[in-house]
Amino acid sequence: MLEVADALAEVLKHAHPLKPEYAALTTAAMGQVLAVDIASDIDSPPFDKALRDGYAVRAADCVTAGVELRVIEEVPAGKVPTQPVGPGEAIRIFTGAPIPAGADAVVMQEHTQRIGDRVRITDPQVQPRQHIYAQGTEMKAGTPVLAAGTVINPAAFGVLASVGKTAVPAYPFPRVGIIVTGDELVEANTKPKPGQIRNSNGPMLAAQTVRAGGLPRYLGIARDDRTITRSLIAEGIDVSDVVLIAGGVSVGDHDLVPSVLQELGVTIHFRQVRVKPGKPLLFGTSPKGKLIFGLPGNPASSYVGFELFVRPAIRILGGHQQPGPRIMPLPLSEAVAETNDRPTYRPAVLEADATGWNVRPLPWTGAPDLVGLQPADALLVLPAGEIRADAGTRLEVVLLSGTL
Ligand code: AMP
Ligand code: MG
Repeated sequence: MLEVADALAEVLKHAHPLKPEYAALTTAAMGQVLAVDIASDIDSPPFDKALRDGYAVRAADCVTAGVELRVIEEVPAGKVPTQPVGPGEAIRIFTGAPIPAGADAVVMQEHTQRIGDRVRITDPQVQPRQHIYAQGTEMKAGTPVLAAGTVINPAAFGVLASVGKTAVPAYPFPRVGIIVTGDELVEANTKPKPGQIRNSNGPMLAAQTVRAGGLPRYLGIARDDRTITRSLIAEGIDVSDVVLIAGGVSVGDHDLVPSVLQELGVTIHFRQVRVKPGKPLLFGTSPKGKLIFGLPGNPASSYVGFELFVRPAIRILGGHQQPGPRIMPLPLSEAVAETNDRPTYRPAVLEADATGWNVRPLPWTGAPDLVGLQPADALLVLPAGEIRADAGTRLEVVLLSGTL
């Protein structure tokens, strides 16, 4: 049985970025990863520009407060000055407008008094270059503004638009096929008959896939029948980069998934991980290198298995440089005392107080308990054996939301 770290290393050994494709820069590309460096085609700003509403002046004219200058022109944003500023002159200027030749400072209007066609400068300390954003300060034509590997976040959309991009080479979102198994399962729109339960893993794993940066495709329920299970998994392998099969991976008579995968030529790299919840956890690769995960049927186990092993794989396929999961030590907000036979990833919530973030374990009854897990935004990592830790003790925490 593999330790969590070794199992993750094995998964990552087989996970490679997908082939980049041109992505149109609509919001549907939000969260994709750039596959190339992007250079600017222009200087930004393209000209020395005013950072305040006020007057463009020669700083040398304004060494004492109270000097009066002749206002020769008015330049709003979007217009260009038609004449230079000479000695004793000023141009009325607005934020975003180009600085006229001759001027080397902007005096904000709050530090002026307008008297007819003249302006009195009340600012006693006019510094050369003040309130001017010099041409090319943000970026220079031909120089890189975004590196390959950058996540296309909202600010990146703005940067890409400012350098004239409407499409960029990016890693596609990995396609994730989702299959659930079990004769007992019915879908959410059906009232379970005796012996039946509703399928909660399918919708949950699809949503986790979206959060991880994948494109989910729900393929349905595979009954505990070899032929049905085989054809659904074969379809999943065909249409996906990653296939998730929830349930049926344990050692019971009706747990068909491992043997069906072998029939389909899948190489199984591991079948169990020393983790709680979720010991039966299978990872394999198809002959074409598709990644196959057999997750435990119990919903909380499936959830944790996804976050620990599937999400990092999806991230690597999607071009992210850091697979995660992001783990950091945080202080406990209450004492913990329990004994576990395996390293345990316990649902928990993060809480902020004046001292920073703390982690609070949630009341939770174990692998089938999705209601108890639901508020979790973290998993508290408890080592195997007996653990007694007071409030304030720092323990490792897996972050479930956020950028990693
Ligand atoms: P299995 O791994 O197939 O032995 O399933 C373990 C437990 O998880 C059983 O109690 C199943 O009924 C339950 N289970 C399996 N698949 C699902 C599912 N899609 N949604 C909810 N519970 C499930
Ligand atoms: Mg089953």
